[in-house]
Amino acid sequence: MASIAIDGPAGAGKSTIARRIARELSYIYVDTGAMYRAMALYLLKNQIPVQDREQMEEACQNADISIVYENGEQQVILNGENVTDQLRTEEVGNMASVSSPNEKIREKLVQLQRKLAKTADVVMDGRDIGTKVLPDADLKIYLTASARVRALRRYGELSEKGIPCDLDEIEEDIKKRDERDMNRAVSPLRQAEDAVLVDTSEMKIEDVVSEILRIYSTRSEVQ
Ligand code: C5P
Repeated sequence: MASIAIDGPAGAGKSTIARRIARELSYIYVDTGAMYRAMALYLLKNQIPVQDREQMEEACQNADISIVYENGEQQVILNGENVTDQLRTEEVGNMASVSSPNEKIREKLVQLQRKLAKTADVVMDGRDIGTKVLPDADLKIYLTASARVRALRRYGELSEKGIPCDLDEIEEDIKKRDERDMNRAVSPLRQAEDAVLVDTSEMKIEDVVSEILRIYSTRSEVQ
């Protein structure tokens, strides 16, 4: 099975770009952040304290997370309920970032991610795909952009939805999340040695997509 791993910090454009590349290649897009978010939603709903190892372990056993595809779009099922629409809030995102260092959670979700990559050609995005989940991926991309640019993108998305927000606050939040994701003990966010670095700060989405597709096709020719 073929696989493309896309890692990088929040707001670098991973999901938009990964989704488009998957569509171009007729691969499946796997959004691993959504899985950590589903686990976070379970913790929030059940008021489980992240510091409590025992309760966290129990939560891992009780939260049944699976992935299905509807019209090519990934849907996350948590204990029988489709929770996809509940995952994109700041509260769930922050909880995902706080709870994702937990080893049991990572073990459980990495297993699910590897299983998906065994059954289909995938474009998978996350934080540790190239370094941990799919170390033998056919192409690894490390996508990044400056914190200000990422905050501006998030600000634009929220404003468009009519949600009041503050640009400096968003930038601070993004920096805090980067700090947590990059400095955790287990699977920290970092560029894999064999990953190609793409800085999207001053690039249009179409240009990033075509650049990655170009790199992938030259790699495929070589192999
Ligand atoms: O990418 P997204 O913002 O949806 O991810 C939410 C959080 O889940 C991240 O901040 C990160 O802490 C965690 N995550 C992770 N490993 C992944 C994907 C996401 O630790 N592969």
